[in-house]
Parts: sequence; structure tokens; C-alpha cells
Amino acid sequence: MNKFEQLGLNESLLLAIKDLGFENPSEVQEKAIPVLLEQNTDLVALAQTGTGKTAAFGFPLIQKIDAEDRSTQALILSPTRELCLQITNEIKQYSKYVKGLHTVAVYGGASITEQAREIKRGAQVIVATPGRMQDMINRGLVNIKNISYCILDEADEMLNMGFYDDIVSILSDTPDEKKTWLFSATMPAEVARIAKKFMADPVEITVGHKNSGSATVSHEFYCVNARDRYEALKRLADANPDIFSVVFCRTKRDTQAVAEKLIEDGYSAAALHGDLSQAQRDGVMKSFRGRQIQMLVATDVAARGIDVDNITHVVNYQLPDEIETYNHRSGRTGRAGKLGTSIVIITKSELRKISSIERIIQQKFQEKTIPSGIEICEIQLLHLANKIKDTEVDHEIDNYLPAINEVLDGLSKEELIKKMVSVEFNRFIEYYKKKRDLSGDGGQRSERSSEPREIRAGDPVRYFVNIGARDDFDWMQLKDFLKETLDLGRDDVFKVDVKEGFSFFNTDGEHTEKVMSILNGYDMNGRRINVEISKNDGGSRERRDHNGRSSGGFRGDRNSGGERRSSGGSFGPRKEGGFRSDRNDAPRGERSDRPRREGGFNRDSAAPKRAPGSFQREERAPRRSSENNDRPAGRSFEAAKSRRPRKS
Ligand code: ADP
Ligand code: MG
Repeated sequence: MNKFEQLGLNESLLLAIKDLGFENPSEVQEKAIPVLLEQNTDLVALAQTGTGKTAAFGFPLIQKIDAEDRSTQALILSPTRELCLQITNEIKQYSKYVKGLHTVAVYGGASITEQAREIKRGAQVIVATPGRMQDMINRGLVNIKNISYCILDEADEMLNMGFYDDIVSILSDTPDEKKTWLFSATMPAEVARIAKKFMADPVEITVGHKNSGSATVSHEFYCVNARDRYEALKRLADANPDIFSVVFCRTKRDTQAVAEKLIEDGYSAAALHGDLSQAQRDGVMKSFRGRQIQMLVATDVAARGIDVDNITHVVNYQLPDEIETYNHRSGRTGRAGKLGTSIVIITKSELRKISSIERIIQQKFQEKTIPSGIEICEIQLLHLANKIKDTEVDHEIDNYLPAINEVLDGLSKEELIKKMVSVEFNRFIEYYKKKRDLSGDGGQRSERSSEPREIRAGDPVRYFVNIGARDDFDWMQLKDFLKETLDLGRDDVFKVDVKEGFSFFNTDGEHTEKVMSILNGYDMNGRRINVEISKNDGGSRERRDHNGRSSGGFRGDRNSGGERRSSGGSFGPRKEGGFRSDRNDAPRGERSDRPRREGGFNRDSAAPKRAPGSFQREERAPRRSSENNDRPAGRSFEAAKSRRPRKS
């Protein structure tokens, strides 16, 4: 049974719907149609433009109208001539299999007598602008005293345009028993006043996100290799220094994994999914609203309650299973008239889905390429220049200027600018230079060390192992494999970081002998495993230093300074870290005391970003979401589901 049939629509409508090519009802249709069909009620529906409101009232209206009775039974008021014609046209298409049903458009700028004549011939439905309708009533050209339904479409627009008096007057000319259906994108006081005055106990429907057909959202896709998805995400973030985004993944597991990777790579990210408790989710949302989180990685279900304005980007890290869900995702951005971008990271094999989505959103995608390292450097550099320009000077700094001037004395303005900007620029260029080599075993491999090192129980030990994504491991699968093969406990293997052809992981020093003896030479389906102890230990096991800052990967190492610092300084082996490296030169206290900064050189904000990072570590659910997959979502999930997104 098709979804429209399930809503209770009859055969002639279903046929028309088929002709129109509508496959599934939109949200407002799903909510409004059954109510309007089953109940003889007033209704207030709040939904943005492009959400399919015309059919939401049009379908049930057509089904309820008696086409054998030629009298006027319904009046639809709409703000403009264009909309009036559009609605008329839609209603005509919807009712094309309903014999005897006539719809007439009534609007200014065309012959009023011709319109009156059409109505006389028998029009069950009149679609009108308020001004012209009032005119017709005044001239006695139309009788709406016996209508059963009055629909106020785009009520907020009509009132904005100053039609309040006309509407009140027109409604006064209709019978009290008629039902009023009011559709509006927003609910300003005037609309509420109309509702209160002319409606009795209306059913209320809210659709929290607009269809991405909305002009404020632009849609882009980036075609990448499956294994480059994450790298693509990072580059997109780097290319948008002020990004404030929701990143959608398909599963809880991916959501958690992507968020964790982002955090480890120094981004201000957090996960939002059904395995978190309500309190944890509230905490994440609070940080997101407060902008301590720039990238919220979420599942579709968990993101339903998100009602945050000013989201700059929605990123489809993976496309949803149900293409229709795309709408719900992209509607998170471009709210309240702001511009937004909906990005799809897609692989070649999924490309055909783009045209399916285009059909649904009735908007074209722009194909884009992931910015190159150089482009990102440029963007970040300009961003920095602008930031310098806009920075307000705190005059406390005057105290330090004599000393600083002494150091910089003799440099020309040009030299000074060049040097200042280079402080930042060098890091980017350095990072992206290395980045290019990353596809192979590249610089990362130098993390391996043959130098012997004293190993003690209680100390974390980091290993390099020659298996990775190429062997179909993700970090969770590798962790499981290691635990099983080595017969270790749940938390004994940690900081698993899977690269293409190799991986890193940690155990406590007490397991090192076991790891080395069992794993070295282990035959994995004909592949011989080789494991070596890495020079770095991948950070402390709690993954938090005393500042509560996450100390993942080599960053953790470097932060702890002196003796464990890897040989190359900022040129040494590093993880995916990006622009953080230089920060490590700063003393610890200085770093952690630094207030959080918005935007800017993102990776530079590694220290300020500790807030969400550490929050995430403390607050989030157990790391392995797979361990909780069988846990019922429970009340909190329901609560999130029923929480209605606020109107923007
Ligand atoms: P609104 O009045 O809420 O702004 P419309 O009713 O004008 O939205 O619908 C926007 C567009 O979406 C129209 O072109 C309409 O034909 C189309 N549309 C409506 N419902 C569906 C549906 N269920 N599936 C596909 N397209 C639809
Ligand atoms: Mg409309």
C-alpha cells in the first residue's frame, strides 16, 4: 500500500498523485492529511515554504468536497497573484480525476467580471487574494455564505502585506460552522490573533524544518574515494574556518568514530546519537548552541531535536538510507532567512543518488572538488589577515610593547607583516606538504622506532602494526581482533588508530611481551603480521591530561614535553593533527589558560578547543557503541523524538 493511500486518500487522488510523480508525502502532508480527512476540525499548521503545504490542504479538501454540488464550498486565501495562480494550478492537477470539480482563481489585475462569470458557472473552490476577494464581495459577485472550508495559506505573508482588515472582513462573511485551516511559516501576534478570533480549538501541526527546496540552502557534492571520506571532511572543515555544522552519519557507530577522530585531530567536535543518555545529549547540545562545538556529528534520529540557528553547513558524511531524509538534514541550515550549504561527500558508485535528491528538493547540486592544500592555506591565510584587521586591541598590551618593539626593531612594515603571517602560514604549508605523501606509508611510518626502550607495567606502550584499512579493519574491528587474538580484556587495547596500510594501538606495558610474541609472525589469512613498538606511546591511557584536555596520539606526547618529544619537532612524525604542532612549543599552563577563540586558524585553537574535547570524553557514552547496540533507546530517545523543533 502506498504511503498516500495509508493517509486515507481515495482512488482519484492517488491516480493524480501518481501522475504528479510524488512518491512519498512530505512531513506536513503526513501530519495534516489524516487529521483533515478524519476530523471535522480547525487546523493551524506551521511549515516553511516549500514543504508541500498546498497538497497538505489540497488533497483532503478535494476529497471532502461534494463535486456533484456546484455551489462554492471552499475559499482559499493566498497573499499574491502568483501564489494564487500556482495554488489554482496545483488544485486543478490534484483534482483532474474528480469529475465536476471546478476551481477558479480570483486576483487583481484581471477582469473581475470574467472571474465572476467563471464562478457563476459553478466553482466549488475559489482561490483568491484578499483584496480582490473583498472587492467581489462588496460588489455582490460572489457568495461565500455557505462555504464549509476556508483556508488561509501563507497567513503570515498575507498579514505582512497588510491584509488584516480584508481577512477579518472576508471571514466575517463566512458561516460560523465552516472549518478554518491556517497555514503559515511563522506565528506572529497577528496570525495568532486571527487564529484566536476565528478558530475553535484548532489542531496544531508544526513542521520544524523547511524543505531544502528553500532558496536559502545551496547544495554541493564532492565525489571522493570511499577511503578518503574522512580526509575530505577535514579539508572541508579547514577550508571553512568559521564552520558551524552538523555532520550526518548513517550509524551510531560511525557517528561516534568520526566524532572521536575529529576530536583527536584537534577539531571542536562531539557526537550526538541514541547511545548517549538524555543528560549527555543535553550537554552536547548546550555546548553546540554555545558554539564550543563547531562540528556536531549526529545520527538522523538524534538530530531531530536540533533547533539551532546559524548552522553554516550540513555535511552528509554518508547519504541517508532513505533519500527523503536528505531534506530533513539539509533543513538544519539556511534557517531564519540565513544562507546555508548542504554538502554531500559521495563516492562514484552512489552518484546516481544525486539526481534522485535533485528531483525531491527541486534544486540542482553543484559539483565541487575538495580544496587542495594550497587552496586551504590561502583561505586560512586570508582569514587570518581579516582577523588581525578586526582584532580589538586591549591596552594592557601597551605594557609589553617596549620589549616587543625592541625585538622587532628594524623590521619594515612589509617584513613584519610577512613574518607575522608566516608564523601561521608555515604550519599549514608544512602540514599539507606532508599530507600529500600520506596516501602511501609516508612520513607516518617514521613513527616506528628500532630504538630499545624500557618498558614497565603501568606505562602505556604504543605499537605499529602492518595491518590496516586495506585489510578491512576499522578501528573497532581491529580492536576486537587484537583483543581476541591476544586474549585481552575489554579495555586493554586502546588508542587504536587505523591507517590505510598500517595501524597503531596501545596496551599497558604489562602486555607487551604477549603482544610481541603472539602477534609477530601471526598468520592472518596468509598475511604475516609484523608488530613493532613505536617511539611514541600515544598519550596517557585516560586520554586526558591534568587539564582535562584530550591528549590523543602524538600530540599528547609532545605536550608532555622534553624527554618524550619526538625527534623532529614540528617536522617529526605526527598524526593527522594538522596545524597544532607548533602549539606544543608553548608551556602547558599558557596553553590551557588561553580563552577559547572562535574560528580563526582552527587547528591553532587546539588549546582552547579542549573544552568540548574533554567534555566529550567525560560525558560521552562508552566508546564502543557496538557494545550498546542492543540497548533499547528508551525514554530519552522518545523524548528527543517528540521534542518539536522550534520554528525559526
Ligand atoms: P509550500 O506551499 O509549502 O511552499 P508547495 O505546496 O508549493 O509548498 O510545494 C512545493 C513543491 O513541492 C511543489 O512543486 C510541489 O509540486 C512539490 N511537492 C509537494 N508535495 C510533494 C511530494 N509529496 N513529493 C514530491 N513533491 C512534492
Ligand atoms: Mg504554499
